[in-house]
Amino acid sequence: MQKIRKSFGNVLVLDDLDVDVWPAEKIALIGPSGSGKSTLLRILMALERIDAGEIEIDGETVWTMRKNGREAPADASHLRRVRSRVGMVFQHFNLFPHMNVLQNLTKAPALVLGLSEREARDRAMELLNKVGLVDKASAYPAQLSGGEKQRVAIARALAMRPKIMLFDEVTSALDPELVGEVLGVLRRLAHEGEMTMLIVTHQMRFAQEIANRVLFLEKGGILEDNTPDVIFSNPTQPRTREFLSSILNP
Ligand code: ADP
Ligand code: MG
Repeated sequence: MQKIRKSFGNVLVLDDLDVDVWPAEKIALIGPSGSGKSTLLRILMALERIDAGEIEIDGETVWTMRKNGREAPADASHLRRVRSRVGMVFQHFNLFPHMNVLQNLTKAPALVLGLSEREARDRAMELLNKVGLVDKASAYPAQLSGGEKQRVAIARALAMRPKIMLFDEVTSALDPELVGEVLGVLRRLAHEGEMTMLIVTHQMRFAQEIANRVLFLEKGGILEDNTPDVIFSNPTQPRTREFLSSILNP
């Protein structure tokens, strides 16, 4: 991403933000509330347009495309293709309440990827196995705990086989005793290795454990981009240090 600028009205939220993310990286995105973390993820998911700058995902620009050898605004099918490489899980689970767990997981792969019912179902069951919820396949979201819903939401995003997964404070809305099961799923995904993961989190110990890189975002820019070891033991920026001590000793 290069020189990303984004405002809402006259509030400048991202200010010429530059960042490169390499395949299979596990990046923790930290920073104060309102610093633009969610906006950055939504932009990566192409849910928000940008005012200036350029985003490339997997070698292709998001909002422009080549057409007859020229640069043209992205059309719907270009956007669909680029978006399909990215999966996102939010703080609130956004499951389809009127569908059971299996239907939540098979709907989009059948509709968008054209999988047969059988293929979609096999893929869904494999993912439910991965998140430890095979026995909940026919449950409805209302019958699940928050931690279970969030694990279904993760499986649902994975069912589209994205190359990049974005996680926006996926444990923030959970009761404390349910946080561990969701972090456990993320940890397993991270250890599998190949997927690129960007994780907005306030769980610093978790970030330190699984991330290869930590970005500290403040006021719409990346103030520090460093290894977890440096960020958590000896950050180069005083503001990073201040932020961490405010989080660790509230
Ligand atoms: P974070 O996730 O780091 O807490 P956000 O990306 O949610 O920060 O928000 C950054 C800033 O952008 C905040 O000041 C917020 O109020 C503003 N903002 C985010 N989304 C919108 C929106 N859809 N309309 C107007 N302002 C928004
Ligand atoms: Mg946010």
